[in-house]
Amino acid sequence: MVSLVVPCFNEEETIDIFYAEVNRVCQDVPFTIEFVFVDDGSRDRTLEILRRLSREDDRVHYVSFSRNFGKEAALYAGLQHSKGEYVVTMDVDLQDPPYLLPEMYRIITTQECDCVAAFRENREGEPAVRSFFAKLFYRLINRISRTKIVEGARDYRFMKRKMVDAVLNDREYNRFSKGLYSWVGFETEWLSYPNVERSAGVTKWSFLKLFKYSLEGILAYSTVPLSLVSCLGLVFCLAAFPGLCVAVGKVLIPGGPAAGWLSMVGILVFLAGIQLLCLGIVGLYVSRMYLETKGRQIYIEKETDLDIR
Ligand code: UDP
Ligand code: MG
Repeated sequence: MVSLVVPCFNEEETIDIFYAEVNRVCQDVPFTIEFVFVDDGSRDRTLEILRRLSREDDRVHYVSFSRNFGKEAALYAGLQHSKGEYVVTMDVDLQDPPYLLPEMYRIITTQECDCVAAFRENREGEPAVRSFFAKLFYRLINRISRTKIVEGARDYRFMKRKMVDAVLNDREYNRFSKGLYSWVGFETEWLSYPNVERSAGVTKWSFLKLFKYSLEGILAYSTVPLSLVSCLGLVFCLAAFPGLCVAVGKVLIPGGPAAGWLSMVGILVFLAGIQLLCLGIVGLYVSRMYLETKGRQIYIEKETDLDIR
């Protein structure tokens, strides 16, 4: 059995399309499927639709959150509730095209791999600014982190149970699955496909949300910013040393003028700025630690028709 884990946040327009499309492509495949929809605190008719589907079709299950906890939490809950020997995580808007499912199944059962992951070969139809910053992010994180993240990789993955269990065993609160999948290891085969536009509705990711998400990725999988901060401190100390020598020398010469207060203020403000910036970076890590030590629940369930495995 293959479990399809599908996070949904205000997706009343797309769920039925998704359900129909999956049923169409999985008509004569050599595996049975189970749907695990996760309603991530939607405020539209999403939950209503999920209840109806699960009543009509006993392969359909759902978990509903008490509020919006974010896609990462939804994926976690979905994986926890899935029962299949294989588990697929995919979006409900058909941007992770279901027609790839039979091919992914063929690859995972015939080749030596634990996971088949899909990535977009292009970003056609996406705003140029978004693609630009996405590129920048991938370049940055792959440079400063040992956990490599494939550019264009989506959260569309066909995994064996052992990989799912590894992902579930990581109970960290600040989740960034693109990094986590890579961090747990296992053999991954990559499958590319042309970009697909959303089937209906609008994207739930604003630019700010994406920015925060990428920051989460960097903080969770790299401590290079912390080392950079220390290096910066060292560089400034070294640079200040000759200046200090000159200043002391000038004081020793009798009658030296105390001019140049503007440059002094400039330097002070500049250094204060650098210090605050560095403190801020350290603070970001500390805040993550703070949240992690509180051991908060990743999500809160409101309603489901399932038990945790
Ligand atoms: N999603 C979610 N919680 C959120 C935001 C998004 O569960 O807070 C789901 C959403 O319903 C969809 C998937 O995550 O199934 C991807 O979202 P979207 O299509 O809006 O993102 P995009 O494809 O534009 O990056
Ligand atoms: Mg989408």
